[in-house]
Amino acid sequence: MHLVTFRRGRSQGRVGAVWNQAVLDLGAITRDLAAQRGAVGRARGGFPKSMLELIQGGAPALEAARTAWEAGKRLVESQPLDELARRKLAFPLAKIRLQAPIPAPARNIFCLGRNYADHAAERGAAVPEHPVYFTKPAHAVVGPGDRVLHHTVTKELDYEVELTAVIGLAGRDIPRGEALRHVFGYTIINDVTARDLQKRHGQWFKGKSLDTFCPMGPILVTADEIPDPQALAVSLRVNGQVRQSSNTSKMIFPVDQCIEVLSQGLTLLPGDVIATGTPDGVGAATGNFLKVGDRMEAEVERIGVLANKVASP
Ligand code: MN
Repeated sequence: MHLVTFRRGRSQGRVGAVWNQAVLDLGAITRDLAAQRGAVGRARGGFPKSMLELIQGGAPALEAARTAWEAGKRLVESQPLDELARRKLAFPLAKIRLQAPIPAPARNIFCLGRNYADHAAERGAAVPEHPVYFTKPAHAVVGPGDRVLHHTVTKELDYEVELTAVIGLAGRDIPRGEALRHVFGYTIINDVTARDLQKRHGQWFKGKSLDTFCPMGPILVTADEIPDPQALAVSLRVNGQVRQSSNTSKMIFPVDQCIEVLSQGLTLLPGDVIATGTPDGVGAATGNFLKVGDRMEAEVERIGVLANKVASP
């Protein structure tokens, strides 16, 4: 399933699934199915109210989402989308404003540094012996199409496209062989970075944590559709020009190992995300930093394109 969080009118954070250029409102479809069965009261309103609730709901919630998704696909095949939109069951994707799949405030945003050898080299860093972890704050998350602010405190604003794993099943001390079973799905994070602040403050936290520095989305693809996360093309364009172009096969520490090591003595929770590092081609390597008005498109194969424009604060 291609899950999304979307706005509809004033209501925010609704859980949907994209199919055939339509956004299916999974909660509304669930209620519609229940109404057809004659269910009343609580039995009609059981669908998770947010992506986090869906992820935390485990297998039963995912099953409910699949049931609604299958029903929604049949609706889209059999009825005009205008009519479904009037009944608030499905909408044309082009007319819907998507949010980050897990909107702010998200859960833990764990990130890998220097997880591609070509990127470590372009930054003059050695290939690490152990995974390098840092975090971004949960309220830095913005969605597809949202503005990334060029805060005046930085003169070196940079982008980083990253495959991002979303944890579904909680766990600690997860063995590598079981790690991918703990993944609910995958999305994209653009690990926006103020390089000068990253250097100035020693730790990377400050330079990677300014408001709007964590675009996420557009879609959360469930793990069943990406059995091998180490075989995905990743790329990033600025104003249509390709700046990064690589493949997740080049990660130093693959997703399962990132999870294994991070979970040693540290419980990973449903909804936590792990951005798995960026390949070479960042602006810092050439001095070609982002300017107000630039349009970034971060792309990961089988997930989609996460587009954000740089704007003045
Ligand atoms: Mn990064």
